[in-house]
Amino acid sequence: MHLFRYVGKNLFCEGVSVDSLAKKFGTPLYVYSQATLEDHFQKLDSALAPLDHLICFAMKANSNLSVMRTLANRGSGFDVVSAGELQRVIAAGGDPKKCVFAGVAKSEKEIEFALQKGIYSFNCESEPEILRINKVAARLKKRAPIAVRINPNVSAKTHSKITTGTYENKFGIQFEHVEAIYARASKLKNIWLRGVQMHIGSQLTDVTPYELAVKKVLPLVKKLAANYKLEFFSPGGGLGIIYNPALASGSNEWWQSKAAKGILTPAVYAEKLLPLLKPLGLKILIEPGRFIVGNAGALVTQVEYVKRTGKKNFVIVDAAMNDLIRPAFYDSYHEIVPLVKKGGVTVSSDVVGGICESGDYFCKDRPLAKVGEGDRLALLSAGAYGFVMASNYNTRPLAVEVLVSGKKFAVARERQKVKDIWAGEKVVAWLK
Ligand SMILES: *Cc1c(COP(=O)(O)O)cnc(C)c1O
Repeated sequence: MHLFRYVGKNLFCEGVSVDSLAKKFGTPLYVYSQATLEDHFQKLDSALAPLDHLICFAMKANSNLSVMRTLANRGSGFDVVSAGELQRVIAAGGDPKKCVFAGVAKSEKEIEFALQKGIYSFNCESEPEILRINKVAARLKKRAPIAVRINPNVSAKTHSKITTGTYENKFGIQFEHVEAIYARASKLKNIWLRGVQMHIGSQLTDVTPYELAVKKVLPLVKKLAANYKLEFFSPGGGLGIIYNPALASGSNEWWQSKAAKGILTPAVYAEKLLPLLKPLGLKILIEPGRFIVGNAGALVTQVEYVKRTGKKNFVIVDAAMNDLIRPAFYDSYHEIVPLVKKGGVTVSSDVVGGICESGDYFCKDRPLAKVGEGDRLALLSAGAYGFVMASNYNTRPLAVEVLVSGKKFAVARERQKVKDIWAGEKVVAWLK
C-alpha cells in the first residue's frame, strides 16, 4: 500500500497535491510519504510480532534524516554499511545499539568508530575482517559482537547486479566454510559471537528463494547457536516491491486482487518463514530497505521539450540519470504518470534526461499520455536507491527532498546550490 493516488485529475501524496509542491519547490523534486513509510514498517513489524525481533532499516536505500527519524520513532534499528551511515544514524536520532554493520570493506577506523558507539553487531564477510575486528577491539579493550554472513549459494533469481547470495558474488562466507570459521573465531579473545546472518539479494518478489536459503542454513544455524550461545539470526533484507503497476498497487483493493496473489507481502513472508524461524528460539533481525521506502517516494520532473524524430517521440525532462540512476544502472522500471491528468491520446514515448549519455533515459517506447512543454510528471516508486545514488554529473545540483504527512509538508533537504558543488575544489597555486 502507498499513498500516491489521484484525487480527480490531480496526483496527491497523502493530503497534498504533488503539483502544488512542484510549483512551490521547483523540479526535480523528491516527495516522500511519511504515512507510507510508517505503514510499511508497521506491516512488517506486525507480521514478525510472534518473534522476538528487530527491524534494521537498510539505510543505504534512503538515508534522508527525516525518513530515518520517521522509522527511528517507530523503534527501527538500522543496517549501516559505512561509518558515515552510522554518523547519520546518530544525526537522525537513531540508536547505535540497534545497528548492524554490513559490508565487505570495513576499515580499521570504521570498526573503531562502530565499537565506540556500541553497535549491536558487525556482520562479517570474511575471515581477515574478523581478525581485524579482534585486533581493534583488543586495542580498545572491548569485546566486539559479530555475526558471520553466510553465503548460502542460493540464487535470488533477481537482476544480476542485485543478487548477492551465490558464489559468483563477493558477499558473505561460503556455506561450507562457516563452521570452521566460528570455531576459529571463538578462540579470539576480543570477539563475541553474537549471531548468524545472511542476505541473498534485493527486489525478491517471490518467497521461495528465502525459504530455500533459510531451510538450507537452518541446521547449521541451530548447531552454531547451541555451540556458541548465539543470540540472533538474520535472514537479511531484500523484500521486493511492485514497480509495475505502482499506482494500482497503492490501493488496498489491488492487494485483494488476483494480480497480487503470490506477491511477496509481509503476510506471505511471515506465513512461510515464521514456522522455520520460531522454533530456533533466537532473536530474529531483518534488514529491509526497499520494501519500506521504495513505494513511499516519487521523483517529480517537468517537461522541457518534446522532440519528434522519424521513429521516436522523445519527452525531454529536467530530471536525469544523475537524479535517478536505476533505469540506466539496473534496467529498472518506474511508472511515469502526469501530475495533472489530461486524457486524450497516448503516444509511444521515450522519457529522457538532458545528460550526454545514451543511458540517460527513464523509459523507452512506452505508451504515455501526450504531454507538452511545462507539463509535469512523477516517476513513482523512486523512494529507494533514488536520491541516495544521485550525483553531480554535468554539474547538476542534487534535487530538493520534501516529506509529506497528511496535509503537512516540509523540506527534508534543500536543493543543493550550484556553487556548493565545487565547494571543496581549488585551482591549484601554480596555475594562477
Ligand atoms: C542492500 C542490503 C540490504 C537491503 O536490501 P533491500 O533490497 O533494499 O531490502 C540488506 N542487507 C544487506 C547486507 C544489504 O547489502
